[in-house]
Amino acid sequence: MTLRNSYPPLEVPDVSLQEFVLGRAEALGPHCDRTALVCAATGRSVTYGELLDGADRIAAGLAARGVGRGDVAAVFAPNSPAYPVVFFGILTAGAAATTANALYTPGELGYQLRDSGARVLFTVHAALERARAAVSQDGVRVTEIVLMDAAPATAGPASLGSAAGTVIETALADWLADRTTLTPQVTVHGDDLAVLPYSSGTTGRPKGVMLTHRNLVANTLQSLPLGRLDEGSVALAVLPLFHIYGITAIMSMTLYRRASVVTMPRFDLEALLSAIQEHRVDHVSVAPPLALVLAKHPAVDAYDLRSVAIVLSAAAPLSAEVAEAVQKRLGCTVLQGFGLTESSPALLGIPHDRPEIDRGSVGVLLPGVEARLVDPATGTDAAPGAAGELWCRGPNIMSGYLGNPTATAEVLDADGYLHTGDLVTVDAHGVFHVVDRLKELIKYHGYQVAPAELEAVLLTHPGIADAAVIGVLDADGQEVPMAFVVRAPVSPGPAHELPDLPGGPELLDEEAVMAYVAARLAPQKKVRRVAFLDAIPKSAAGKILRRELRALPEAGAAAP
Ligand code: AMP
Repeated sequence: MTLRNSYPPLEVPDVSLQEFVLGRAEALGPHCDRTALVCAATGRSVTYGELLDGADRIAAGLAARGVGRGDVAAVFAPNSPAYPVVFFGILTAGAAATTANALYTPGELGYQLRDSGARVLFTVHAALERARAAVSQDGVRVTEIVLMDAAPATAGPASLGSAAGTVIETALADWLADRTTLTPQVTVHGDDLAVLPYSSGTTGRPKGVMLTHRNLVANTLQSLPLGRLDEGSVALAVLPLFHIYGITAIMSMTLYRRASVVTMPRFDLEALLSAIQEHRVDHVSVAPPLALVLAKHPAVDAYDLRSVAIVLSAAAPLSAEVAEAVQKRLGCTVLQGFGLTESSPALLGIPHDRPEIDRGSVGVLLPGVEARLVDPATGTDAAPGAAGELWCRGPNIMSGYLGNPTATAEVLDADGYLHTGDLVTVDAHGVFHVVDRLKELIKYHGYQVAPAELEAVLLTHPGIADAAVIGVLDADGQEVPMAFVVRAPVSPGPAHELPDLPGGPELLDEEAVMAYVAARLAPQKKVRRVAFLDAIPKSAAGKILRRELRALPEAGAAAP
């Protein structure tokens, strides 16, 4: 049975995302001096006029380098006012933006650059060494690294303009100052690729999620009930802008509303609280661990947070208790959103004008979304009231995984439904609750952690014969990655001592396993618990039986 949303039909204008979002700023006049973005750490700000002009300059620079429709440019940077300028500049050139986690190791970034075919990489000095190491890997096509920030005073003679191998390095400031190159007049179609974030989906390694301009324009409109933004609003961007949540909820939605964005380069509680106080922030988008901090941390009481009207939590489950505690403490409304990178992301949410809806739910179907609940065992509609896998259809669903029709066919069916891999229930009022996750994916603080990626790293350790990774709950009820490891047989020498390992003898204990992964992957992918087994439970076809692992006593309370 098809479940329908209760909104009027959604009209999605046939325009590019940049026309849709920045067109509204343009209407203010090209020199509009209203603040679009301000950095909480440095105070540096960008007006709407500078955002429009900067995006045009960047588009001109890309066009002059032959980067346009059909090409990809990458952004590998923490949040800053320059981030949306670069993002919309790439789109204005007609190219697609692939956004990478700013904490990626060279190996992780290299994988995304190679897979996406990115030709230009925008980054910052703090990430430059990792960026250089990534672009020098085989198969990476990047020919230019563009530094978005000024060189730190401590830097020696700038490497700018010098060559790292065959890759040149330039400064964004020079692109922005260039008045000679003309902005390209590119016609972008709604079905053109706009962004290419990476997601592991239901299984396997991260894949490029092809989101079109139409997907993002649609989802910006679909997400509007999840806030009360107007021109006087100030939104906090502590969520990373590289994630689809930041792209839609912050870059598209807030700027579309011509509100202001306060960017935070990294999470720091005191800095966050003082940014809310200083900038009179009224909209805060968070992942559940930050909601927990807002509910419980004593430091919160030392700040005036009365400006906060809406806290939107998404990306992982938030309990009603934590949501209600935040509402009570801050005197605000807490909303919950639900979605996936593959759906641009929002599918469900608690609208701001529905105070009666349970805060521990994921709310109702958003405008333009249709759904089915399907019994995973039979593939037919779940019985009324029973949990089923959520399938969703709408103008925000990706066109597929880049270069991977097999993975696409596993999650997108012929009727246009995205199979989310999430087990949900829906009540008589159309309110959904997430009850379990059928797919492998782990969410650590809202970040994706693909078990397959961690398992591949673990198996490169000579002391590990086999490994499997699942999500388990920590003492705060938050999901963390746990590795089950089968030690390789050792000979000769004391038990588990591996004299041939690089770096000398090493005892394969929990710390060694954790340190091995931590040295190779971004911090959110750290293994935080380890158990040793004699064998990993597997099906006859060799598939890891994750449910059996979750049921083991070592797993404690398995997530979600
Ligand atoms: P991502 O593609 O990184 O946005 O991850 C999507 C996945 O995050 C979903 O399939 C869910 O498993 C999980 N997720 C997102 N929002 C929520 C939520 N509000 N409650 C529970 N799980 C969520």
